[in-house]
Amino acid sequence: SSKKASSALISVFHKDGLEPIVKKFQELGITIYSTGGTEKFIKDLGIDVIPVEDVTSYPSILGGRVKTLHPKVFGGILNRQDNESDVAQLEEFDIPQLDIVIVDLYPFEKTVASGASEQDIIEKIDIGGISLIRAAAKNYNDVMCVSSMEDYAEFLDIISKNAGETTLEERKKFAAKSFNVSSHYDSAIFNYFNKNHDIAALKVSETKGKVLRYGENPHQKGFFFGDFDAMFSQLHGKELSYNNLLDVDAAVNLMLEFKNEAPTFAILKHNNACGLAQRDTLHKAYIDALAGDPVSAFGGVLISNKEIDKATATEIHELFCEVVIAPSYSDDALDILKGKKNRIILVQNDVAMPEMQVRTCLNGILLQEKDYKTDVFEDLSHATSTKPSELELQDLLFASKICKHTKSNTIVLAKNKQLCASGTGQTSRVDALNQAVHKANSFNFDLKGAVMASDAFFPFPDCVEIAANAGITSVIQPGGSIKDQLSIDYCNENGISMVMTGTRHFKH
Ligand code: 5GP
Repeated sequence: SSKKASSALISVFHKDGLEPIVKKFQELGITIYSTGGTEKFIKDLGIDVIPVEDVTSYPSILGGRVKTLHPKVFGGILNRQDNESDVAQLEEFDIPQLDIVIVDLYPFEKTVASGASEQDIIEKIDIGGISLIRAAAKNYNDVMCVSSMEDYAEFLDIISKNAGETTLEERKKFAAKSFNVSSHYDSAIFNYFNKNHDIAALKVSETKGKVLRYGENPHQKGFFFGDFDAMFSQLHGKELSYNNLLDVDAAVNLMLEFKNEAPTFAILKHNNACGLAQRDTLHKAYIDALAGDPVSAFGGVLISNKEIDKATATEIHELFCEVVIAPSYSDDALDILKGKKNRIILVQNDVAMPEMQVRTCLNGILLQEKDYKTDVFEDLSHATSTKPSELELQDLLFASKICKHTKSNTIVLAKNKQLCASGTGQTSRVDALNQAVHKANSFNFDLKGAVMASDAFFPFPDCVEIAANAGITSVIQPGGSIKDQLSIDYCNENGISMVMTGTRHFKH
């Protein structure tokens, strides 16, 4: 409900911007209470102000450490006006009702940033001001709390438009702003005290998560915020490292693309697939995934979309790998896989992952929706007169799924539902393609009849030329380059088919 203010407590570090507010208060007949420096500032403007000392009957003590911390001040802010006993106690203890609280806190962060001494910094931890803000915001039902100079203009508009009245909605909105100010302030203090990033001080038990042995490298501290145990049951092996967790994340997101399909097996290294195949049995899928790059597979993270059986486990056991992930394991398969002490064996539970992605950026964070768009048959438009065969079409969509989960710039080469090779995280698409072709050749893949997927369009026809020379017969790409036609013309002249998806899949 609307309330007309008749009193205000003002205690601000910076006095800028205060003048129009106190003049408005004077005009509206609002009684002003204030602390030392602020009181002087208001008095110098020729405006009546009551020192807070007159209310508390205490001077500001301990060099300003205790100014407003007093039951008469906090009683005036925290009382509930619709509570009879609260109102009676105000009367009994001669406590003035306070309707508006305006605070500008000691500049803690600025003081830290200025390189001030520890003693100066500690003195800039505002105690009374933060308490005033918390109290006034808590009692937004009766009190308007202005906790930042940034809100002065909006506040002035509010009290001007209706002669000192504020609505419950307005007070609640300002309360929310106030808790934002107080939580930010205390976080800044925490960060100062926790300069050396002592992760144990982050109160792990309250957030769900764990301290990792170290971060990406042994000299970096590392921490995982999240509920790992909700997503996985760990059946065996050592504790997951920072890098293991990143690979597991990449593996799980990649395999989501093949969730309800035929048996599919993927091997990942450094968050990219180095082997992936889909077959009529998991055993064959594993063998052909491994064949994609048996060198990179060493120390990899393995994931399957089906229960791991004995035959597959027997093959896996031959390989040194860090992590195996599957929806389930047969008993005999599990016995075999447990044969290596450190091998991490995870059962992936069927739980949803967050739909948003977060990463740090400069002095903040970036947040985006995950790339949930999977290219399907209906999205494709034929760019060339030659059309892909049925088999090529399936390989094109298969390759595009892998491409989407590989670091940009990337080119993925696939044939018969097997990843032949990819170029990953290159600074040019030509480099990515050359890397993929070179890799495929080094593992004796016959690229004749293979398909090529690109995460983004081809700005020049160079990629299709290299691909054609390597034996590629069909291409999938988003399209959209002003020079698309050059690539299309080349494909037409060389009997290569090209389909366009209209969807870019950058992954940086
Ligand atoms: P003034 O310049 O009016 O003397 O002081 C204003 C500053 O004091 C504001 O930044 C306010 O947050 C802070 N403040 C108000 N009451 C107290 C208190 O009791 N203790 C401390 N440490 N700071 C206070």
